[in-house]
This record gives sequence, C-alpha cells and structure tokens, in this order.
Amino acid sequence: MRTWTLGIALALAVVSLRPGAAQTPARNVVVITIDGLRWQEMFTGAGREYFKKEKSGEPGPAEKRFWRETADERREALLPFMWGTIAAKGQIFGDPSNGGRAHLTNGLWFSYPGYNEMFSGAADPRVDSNDKVPNPNVTVFEWLNTRPGFQGRVAAFGSWDVLPFILNVGRSHLTVGSGFAPVPLPKTDRERAINELAADLPPYWDYGPFDAPIVYAALERLRTDKPRVLYIMLGESDEWAHAGRYDLYLDSAFRADRFIHRVWDTLQSMPEYANQTTLLVTTDHGRGATTSDWTDHGAKVPAAESTWSSRLHFACITRSPLSAANVTRTLHARVTGGWGASGRPNYCRERPIGSPETISSTRRFCCRPALVRFDATGWLAPRPDVATVAGEIPCRIR
Ligand SMILES: [Zn+2]
Repeated sequence: MRTWTLGIALALAVVSLRPGAAQTPARNVVVITIDGLRWQEMFTGAGREYFKKEKSGEPGPAEKRFWRETADERREALLPFMWGTIAAKGQIFGDPSNGGRAHLTNGLWFSYPGYNEMFSGAADPRVDSNDKVPNPNVTVFEWLNTRPGFQGRVAAFGSWDVLPFILNVGRSHLTVGSGFAPVPLPKTDRERAINELAADLPPYWDYGPFDAPIVYAALERLRTDKPRVLYIMLGESDEWAHAGRYDLYLDSAFRADRFIHRVWDTLQSMPEYANQTTLLVTTDHGRGATTSDWTDHGAKVPAAESTWSSRLHFACITRSPLSAANVTRTLHARVTGGWGASGRPNYCRERPIGSPETISSTRRFCCRPALVRFDATGWLAPRPDVATVAGEIPCRIR
C-alpha cells in the first residue's frame, strides 16, 4: 500500500445503470476494495510461472492449492464467491482477454490517488502521494453523510491508517475504523474483543493489523448500527505482493473472497439489508504484468493502470444495457436513485459548492463524467462479455 514504498497505484471504473433505465434503487450500498489485486488473478486465477518450486522440483503447497488446467477452473478455485455468485448474478468488468477494459486515469497507479479517484469521481493532480494529508476533495461518502436519511449512517473500515485522511474525517466526521483499534469507541464485549485481537496479533505491518479483524469490525457494525453505506478496505493482497510472496498474495485473495461472501450472507440475513443492498467490489490499482515486476505498481509500471470491478445487486434489471461510470456515480445512482434531468447523477448537481476545491472537483466531475471509455452505444468499450447483459440478470440473490 503504500506509504513507505514506491509510488504505487490507482484506480477504477465500475459500472452503472444507464440514466433512465428501469431500475429499483438500492437502499444500502456496501463497497469492498481489495488493494492491488491484479486483473490477471481476477480473470485467470493463479499464474504458474509465479510459483516457487520445492527443492525437489515438485509444486509447492500454493500451486497444489490454486493451480488448475483451465483459466475458468483456476479463477473459481481462487475466488469461488466472485465467480460462483457475483459473475453469475451480477457483473465483473475489466477482462482484457474478452475485450473488456477497466483502467485508472490518475497516471500514478498507487493507492491514495486511486482511492481518491474512486470516491471523489475524478483524478486530482494534487493527490500525488500516500502521505497522511487530508483529502481536499469531498468523497461520495462524505457527501452522503450530509444527506437526509444518511447522516451518521455511513461507516468505513480499513487497516491502512491513511484511510481517515482519504475520507478527511476532520471535515467529514465520518466514522472510520482503522489501524490497531478497528472498532471506534467499542461499546460491547464483542467489539472490545475485536480490538484486543487486532492489538494481540503480530504487528507485521506498522500501520495496522491483518484484514481479518477489520472485517470482523465491519460485520459487527452492520449488526449493531446498521449503516446504509459501508466501506471495507482490504489491504493484505498489496502487502504480500510487494513482499514477493505469491503464495500469500493468492491466499489473501482467497480469504478476501470468503470475507465478501460472509458480508453478503450477513446482508441477506438481515431484514434491513436483504434484497435492498448493492455490493460493489473493486481495486485501487493493478500491478506489473511479468514475473519481474508483478510485485510492484506505480507510474513506472504502466501495466498497473489496468484494473477490474464488479457489482452484485439485489434487484431485477430490466433490459438495461450497462454503461460505464466510476464508483461515485454508481454509488450515488444506487443509493439515492438519483439521475438528474440532465442525465447526470444528482451527486454532481447537488454536490456542495462552497470552497475552491469542491468547485473544481465538481466541475471536473460534471464535465468529465466518464472515467472509462464508452462506445457509441454507451457500453464500456469494448463491451464486457463477462457481464450478464440485456435483462437476463436474475431478480433475486438466493
Ligand atoms: Zn502497493
């Protein structure tokens, strides 16, 4: 992730319904990011050339666990929920082998610029480091937290201790759990136990714990406070990649998939969320595309520009060709059902304008709404054929 290393990364493009398409707005949104997980593993599973062999020349445990003969088998072995449920009942975008492309526009291809692009709607040249600098831009989370029905009901969790700065908690007053105390202001024995676990695990990275206690904290918040907007930042994948541990990078992706599955099952088990919640999963940047640079990302690793994203929505989508937009537009459209008469999301039109930075970012956002490319029909160009299209998306997740 991040901080002390080279510049890394970047971000994103997700899909959203075309303005005006028949749709049922979701009442809640959960966003999960998997830091620096490559599209290569997302779409084709483990790469054999990245595995280390045993001294005997035999495949090691990770290769035995994740290698399969076909790409479809490999990705399902690595990410069973992503490919068993999200791909089947939602959409996954960005597979270059099928002509899809999801990419970043910030040109830096490391984390803070990627998350800023993702959540404020546009790349910002002022956001050019992973330093703990409050984000000058209003993220969609900050904006939603001011809207009727959402005040105090937006929560975020992430191990990386830069997350509070990305979301500018000093200004936004968002509830953010990060670092070695993932539950802010714990009130129950269970919440205190989660913080104790985070503190008791080996402090392998200096900014925060492994992903597990972060996810536990987020799940507990779902159960207790029932936020309408929840963001979970998973970070281990990037760390193990930087360390050159392909085995643990794959394992972290496998566990991220299990976390996502658990979050989705929890959502579908609660009346406040079941069948009225959209799940978005994406990443902040890609990585190098070869065995010599897959560990890295940043402006000197151009392959890191390419990413992927996905979504799973509860509702039936009626013959709605998908167009591409960024997470901000997707979030807004799904949460508030808001597309203005201009065809632009209300987030753009209603975004508070009162300071130079919000004016500039609003202009950027409004004037350049598409962070990914469209073809003439409004599809992510070229059309993502991993996606289920044209009204064939099941109405309900079972
Ligand atoms: Zn990184």
